[in-house]
Amino acid sequence: MTANVLFAGRPESWPIYAPLLKAEFARLGVDASVHTEFAPAKVDYIVYAPSGPISDFSPFTRLKAVLSMWAGVEKIVPAVPAAIPLTRMVDSGLEQGMTEWVAGHTLRYHLGMDAHILGQNGHWDPKAPPLAKDRCVTVLGLGALGTAAAKTLAALGFQVAGWSRTRKHIDGVICHSGGDGLKSALAQAEIVILLLPDTPATENTLNAETLAMLPRGARIINPGRGPLIDDDALLSALNSGQIGHATLDVFRIEPLPPGHPYWTHPNVTVTPHIASETRESTAAQVIAENIRRSEAGEPLLHLVDRSLGY
Ligand code: NDP
Repeated sequence: MTANVLFAGRPESWPIYAPLLKAEFARLGVDASVHTEFAPAKVDYIVYAPSGPISDFSPFTRLKAVLSMWAGVEKIVPAVPAAIPLTRMVDSGLEQGMTEWVAGHTLRYHLGMDAHILGQNGHWDPKAPPLAKDRCVTVLGLGALGTAAAKTLAALGFQVAGWSRTRKHIDGVICHSGGDGLKSALAQAEIVILLLPDTPATENTLNAETLAMLPRGARIINPGRGPLIDDDALLSALNSGQIGHATLDVFRIEPLPPGHPYWTHPNVTVTPHIASETRESTAAQVIAENIRRSEAGEPLLHLVDRSLGY
């Protein structure tokens, strides 16, 4: 029987996804019909983004799965009934974009780019930056995005450490795990990158206590989620010099409200949640493959663990 796939992403992205999804279903031999409208009781799968049209899943009585178009699912987990399988987006294009963004901002700090560009205003300080092999960088979160970023930073020559809930083994990366592992992961970190999900367990991972575990003057790069950082503690650490600078792409409230201290703090760079995004051509492959799997009775890829929230 034809599987009915409801596309419930942003309406403006439908013209891009429609031909891509149809081509992928044809390529994989999946008998599926994808549209932006179906009678709810006839829908088998929902391709979903919180910015799309659906917030109430109760009329969808025969749903086999919800496939998130986003990697971060903190807004989706509470909305989708626990009995319905929920997958999150793991997309090679999203990974590539995040890796480039993280590498760029890490190199900005490592090379002291701001200071040297300011030097063009008349301040001549001919001090070359250290080599990457002499710089410690820590990635908090070693999932799809954190692992990709950590591997690239290691390939650039940095001393890379990482931290995750469960223990990982990644070539060129010193891997720490669990509550005790965080202190070790932070102890040497001159640059810290946050790629954790937003869950009750990760809220305020960087707080007054953990910021104090870092070497003085450490830099923070947060493309993960705003609640990973205690904002008051970070501002206080920035003002005291314990933290040298922070580059923040994500915030508790987005857009970052006018008047928020981050906008004007001299040691904060704000970017508007653009570190990376789901790329249509590769994401369509992931979505179609999961629907193929479900129809074939095979396990779904990238299932969200509802008890962990990611
Ligand atoms: P994954 O689910 O693949 O990885 C999450 C990582 O965090 C895993 O290594 C996991 O550990 C670790 N983790 C989770 N909880 C804890 C904990 N309590 N203590 C220690 N480690 C923990 O996610 P992705 O890598 O795909 O994405 C990471 C986040 O990036 C997303 O959740 C989203 O918030 C953000 N994001 C931001 C974007 C932007 O443009 N700014 C774009 C896309 C995503 P373990 O491996 O042991 O389970």
